[in-house]
Amino acid sequence: MDFALSEEDQMIRDTVEAIAASEIAPLAPLLDHSFGKEGREAFLANLKMLAETGLMGLNVPAEYGGSEAGPIAYAVTMEALGAACAATALTVSVTNMVAEVISRTGNEETKQRFLPPICDGSWPAASFCLTEEGAGSDPGSLRMKARRDGDDYILDGTKIYISSADYAGCYVVWAKSDPEARTGKGITCFAVAADTPGISLGRLEEKMGQHGSATREVVFEGVRVPVSQILGGEHDGFRVAVGELTGGRIGIGSMALGIGRAALSAAKEHALNRKQFGNRLADMQGIQWMLADAETEMEAARLLILRAAWAKAQGLPFVKEASMAKLYASEFAQRATYTALQIHGGAGYIRDYPLERYARDARITTIYEGTSEIQRLIIAREVLLRQAA
Ligand SMILES: Cc1cc2nc3c(=O)[nH]c(=O)nc-3n(C[C@H](O)[C@H](O)[C@H](O)COP(=O)(O)OP(=O)(O)OC[C@H]3O[C@@H](n4cnc5c(N)ncnc54)[C@H](O)[C@@H]3O)c2cc1C
Repeated sequence: MDFALSEEDQMIRDTVEAIAASEIAPLAPLLDHSFGKEGREAFLANLKMLAETGLMGLNVPAEYGGSEAGPIAYAVTMEALGAACAATALTVSVTNMVAEVISRTGNEETKQRFLPPICDGSWPAASFCLTEEGAGSDPGSLRMKARRDGDDYILDGTKIYISSADYAGCYVVWAKSDPEARTGKGITCFAVAADTPGISLGRLEEKMGQHGSATREVVFEGVRVPVSQILGGEHDGFRVAVGELTGGRIGIGSMALGIGRAALSAAKEHALNRKQFGNRLADMQGIQWMLADAETEMEAARLLILRAAWAKAQGLPFVKEASMAKLYASEFAQRATYTALQIHGGAGYIRDYPLERYARDARITTIYEGTSEIQRLIIAREVLLRQAA
């Protein structure tokens, strides 16, 4: 057993950690305070720079502009970005997911058309359009329509809570192509350019955290998409969604780990500098125990994430592993950000410090890309199936 990163993954981690600290973290407070309105240009410039560094197509073959760095590189990248700016991390995570789904399931023409602009940053981001008003944890019940018309499909419906919809160059969209099929069946997945006629942006959500990332409705009215842009098989798109969400969970877990790590780093610094009752907080056993527990959980979260990423890289099953990693890391981030805030006392609640932002940014990580309850359902299903086999 070898716990060391490969030389290449180590190099990627060091590079991304350095960029994250120098270019990404300084912008995070402005994006947060202005709900992403101020600093948008700098944010988009950062996304372009991250693409040029090879971070938007980490699991995409080089022939389409990707960096073929693999799942472990994706995990360490997302941890570094999560520690610096969760909104940027989310954008990179979802864009990588979209690139990966196109790369895995698109035909040659679709890959040639969609992947290079995602990977080289010509498109600032890409969006994953699955959720609808009546279909969140249960995406198989989605209602958006896809009606076949010759060599095209025509899409009608509304997707909600779509990350990066404002600046995405393309969307991966799921719609019901066989109205007679039961829940979870008869769904087709499409790659759609964002400037396709009939697409418009709806409501822009105001959120608790991750303010730099725009979360928006996307409305599809008579959007014509050629059948050649189907991802996976016709009527077989649900399988594509489930497969891609599994990999995405490694990204969200890693981002959550990064947020928790940043909060704990601030807490350790504060504990070493702040004195009360004539002693540093760091010398008080009550504070030491809080830090010791949180650091132990952080290591456990990182091991679960790297284990899942390693299994994916080896081509081994990783459904249970990815759900455990996402569940544990996102729940760790809740506890760690609150512990770190508590160690800051009143300062933790004040916006001059990043602690309250970390706590708000971490909150959504137990919800999107499968809530903690859904992760538990998946884990239970996997372990019970194995037991029964
Ligand atoms: C900021 C943000 C960004 C997002 N970005 C995207 C995006 O880019 N693309 C996209 O497609 N979606 C996106 N989403 C949607 C997100 O994935 C969903 O919100 C999430 O999957 C939960 O769905 P829901 O909100 O409908 O909650 P619901 O499904 O209504 O769940 C409500 C509660 O019930 C629980 N629950 C549901 N079913 C069960 C069950 N069987 N057993 C036990 N408990 C259950 C849930 O865990 C939750 O606690 C985003 C959401 C947010 C807030």
